[in-house]
Amino acid sequence: MSTQNKNMVILGAGESGVGAAILAVQKGWTVFVSDMSQIKEEFQAELTKLGVQWEQGTHSMEVILAADLIIKSPGIPEKAPVMKAIREKGIKVISEIEFGGYHTTGKTICITGSNGKTTTTMLTHHILKKAGLDVGLAGNVGYSFAKQVAEGDHDWYVIELSSFQLDDMYDFHANIAVLTNITPDHLDRYDYEMQNYVDSKFRILQNQSTSDWFIYNADDALISAEMKKRTPSVNLAPFSMKEEQNPGGYALDKQLIININQQFAMSIHELALKGKHNTQNALAAGIAARLVEIRKDIVRESLEDFTNVEHRLEFVAKVNGIEFINDSKATNINSAWFALESMENPTVWIVGGVDKGNDYSELTALVREKVKAIVCLGTDNSKIIEAFSGIVETIVEAKSAAEAVAYGYRLAQKDEIVLLSPACASFDLFENYEDRGNQFKQAVRML
Ligand code: ADP
Repeated sequence: MSTQNKNMVILGAGESGVGAAILAVQKGWTVFVSDMSQIKEEFQAELTKLGVQWEQGTHSMEVILAADLIIKSPGIPEKAPVMKAIREKGIKVISEIEFGGYHTTGKTICITGSNGKTTTTMLTHHILKKAGLDVGLAGNVGYSFAKQVAEGDHDWYVIELSSFQLDDMYDFHANIAVLTNITPDHLDRYDYEMQNYVDSKFRILQNQSTSDWFIYNADDALISAEMKKRTPSVNLAPFSMKEEQNPGGYALDKQLIININQQFAMSIHELALKGKHNTQNALAAGIAARLVEIRKDIVRESLEDFTNVEHRLEFVAKVNGIEFINDSKATNINSAWFALESMENPTVWIVGGVDKGNDYSELTALVREKVKAIVCLGTDNSKIIEAFSGIVETIVEAKSAAEAVAYGYRLAQKDEIVLLSPACASFDLFENYEDRGNQFKQAVRML
């Protein structure tokens, strides 16, 4: 289709919207960018420099409904009035990733799942980069795919995909797809139907064929059940912490094994990232790297020297023998479960915030085993207090990160741990999870 003089409307002017605008202008579209919120100043400047029309704080419906194609930010829900009007008019809506896919010649490794996306994406990118490949890092991790395609394109891309991005993808094709796990999350955007969310995650498989690969977590009951229902015509490389896989990977008896081409083996003690969940992430990234035929010594070295992404089980400091760990990104039960599971000493657990429908009973056994005291960090902590009274003797409430750290410091002893792993979103007391993690780290450094 010729795009000269065709109208594109981009909804949402964040990293992905602005990136899409750059590519669209290059391809000859007439672009209009509309954002219901205030646009960050750096993005305003970039749009002005590009010479496109843009607006903020409003949606000019007559312009939007005249579009030939719409690119929507993943943050905008279908329920938003602007989307209802667009759907009624029947205008095609795609995500920025889909649009980038129209114009790239690069190959893609695409990573989705409820937890572990960013870690697995960064780890995979780290290995490919170390191997000297021309590789871009894109998607939900915070860098626009379309922008990179416009500014020179790469041979390979490692792309983190949320279910919201997948929802607006149709013709996109992942050469290697990774599904880390599926646990309930974001159900408010899926009519509270788990199957809708599962279907959305499985969109990562669409358009994959016999020359492509699908890497998935074979221990995840939901994924396994779904794989029985579907018979995708793609090569399968599952990973497991329970059973040998070939082709695929597994971790048993403290050894991590990958059976792709020849066998790759290393001790899990050598992995830079600790905890079972990170061993799963290392398996997924390692399998992807071996499928790209990265040498074994480079895979090993990369898995050994990777530095963790901020706010994910991040070591902050040891103060008088007490270790402080920032896992502010743990915004659901599953991620907090893995954090607690990987604690090897008695732990003061800082938990709470905006609860997205948590069932705390899933954590009871682990809390009994690992947690010596709980510090609640939220405006309404009643569910947490109710769930763990009688299991943990000491439960206190804090209204700021500094107060929570002070409690942690008082309640923990030498060789013990203070862990911030909230299992909740942060919007009651903080701007976002980064702000929560940064305030926590700041308070630790002030001790
Ligand atoms: P995502 O990008 O999917 O949100 P992250 O890598 O940012 O995932 O990690 C989010 C949280 O989940 C962190 O608290 C992290 O420690 C935890 N986590 C990381 N990998 C996994 C995994 N494979 N399974 C469960 N939890 C995980």
